[in-house]
Amino acid sequence: MISKERMTQHLMDLIRIDSPSKIEKNVALKLEDEMKELGAECIIDNVGNKIDGNVGNLIVKVKGNTDAPTFFLSSHMDTVAPGLGIQPRIDDGIMRSDGTTILGGDDKSGVSIIVEVIRTLKEQNIPHGDIEVAFTICEEIGLLGAKYIDISLFKSKYGIVLDSSTPKKLVLKCPTSDVAVFKIHGLEAHAGLCPENGINSIKIASEAISNMKIGRIDHETTSNIGVITGGVATNIIPNFVMVKGEARSHNNEKLDKEIEHMCKCFNDAAKKYSVTLEGETIKPTVEIEVERVYEKMDVSSEAYITRMVDTAVKNLGHEIEHQTSGGGCDANYFNNMGIECVNLGTGMYELHTVNEYVIMDEFYRSADIVLETIQLNTA
Ligand SMILES: [Zn+2]
Repeated sequence: MISKERMTQHLMDLIRIDSPSKIEKNVALKLEDEMKELGAECIIDNVGNKIDGNVGNLIVKVKGNTDAPTFFLSSHMDTVAPGLGIQPRIDDGIMRSDGTTILGGDDKSGVSIIVEVIRTLKEQNIPHGDIEVAFTICEEIGLLGAKYIDISLFKSKYGIVLDSSTPKKLVLKCPTSDVAVFKIHGLEAHAGLCPENGINSIKIASEAISNMKIGRIDHETTSNIGVITGGVATNIIPNFVMVKGEARSHNNEKLDKEIEHMCKCFNDAAKKYSVTLEGETIKPTVEIEVERVYEKMDVSSEAYITRMVDTAVKNLGHEIEHQTSGGGCDANYFNNMGIECVNLGTGMYELHTVNEYVIMDEFYRSADIVLETIQLNTA
C-alpha cells in the first residue's frame, strides 16, 4: 500500500539537503511543509535556541479518523560528518553515497518512512487514531533534541522510533551511558635542568590507563578511553593532562562499579608521586567529572508495543528478532519520559562511515511494518 517510488524519491531529496547537527533547519522546513499539506498540525519547539542550533524539534500531530489510542513515531533529522553535499545513488537495490561522504540514511531513512506512512494513511483514508511525530534535532551529539523535548506536548503512551539497522531486528534494550573527564594536575619543571622538581602528569595518566580494565567488561558493560590531551614541549615536564572516557551498561550497578574502577586507577596512580621543594611537599591532584548522558531503555518482550510490532511482522510474512543494543538513541529518553518505544531498523548499514548504505527492500519493509502496526493499533 505504500509507494516505493515515492518514498525512494523522498529519501534522495532529503539526503541532498545538508543537515549536520544544529543545522537541521532546511530539513525541518521541508517536512513542516509536507506535513501541513497533509493537514497535520506542526510545532517547532524552542530546543534549538537552548542548544544553539538553527531550528528546534519538529513536532507533528496528525488527527485520526477513529478514536484508537494515539501512536507515537520518531526519527532524527541530523547527520554526522562528513555529511555535506551528499550525492545519493542506487545500484542493484542499494543506496550509497559517492564514497566521499556518509549517506545520511541515518536517520533520514526513518524520517522518509514516517512521511510515507502518514501519506499512505491519509491518501487511502485508512482508519487510524491520532498520530504524534517527533522529528528530532541533534541526536548524534548526545540525544539533545529528545533530552530537552517538552514531553507534555504528547499524549501517546507508546510508539516506534526508527533509528537502527535492520527491520529484521527490533531493539528493546539500550544501555545507560556515563562520560567521565579526568584532569591530572602535576608540576611543571625544566626537563633537562631539574626534572626532580617536576611531577609528570602524562606518566600518571599512562599508569592509570595501563592499569585500567577497559573494552568489553562483561556481556552488558563496556568502557573506553577515547581522548587524551596534554603537554606543551619535550623539554617541559607536563603539569596537565586531560583524559576523556566513557562507560555503558544495561545494569546501572555495574556501570557505577566500572566508573568507580576508572576513577580509582587515576587516584591510585597519582598517589605514588610527590616532590618536596624547599621543605614543602607537593602532590599531584586529580579532578574528575562524571556525567550521566542518558538512562537505559529496557522494553519488555511482552510489552503491548512489542507484541503489536511482532504481530505486524508476522502478518506481513516476515520474521523479527528482539535485540539488545550497545548504543543509545532518542528512545532512551522517550522511554524514561513515559512513552514506551521500541526501535525498529530501517535498512541502514555501516552507519557513521563513508561506506554507509541502505538496502531498499528493507527500507520498504520497515515502512510496511509501521503501517501494519498502526492498523493493528486501530483494530
Ligand atoms: Zn541515528
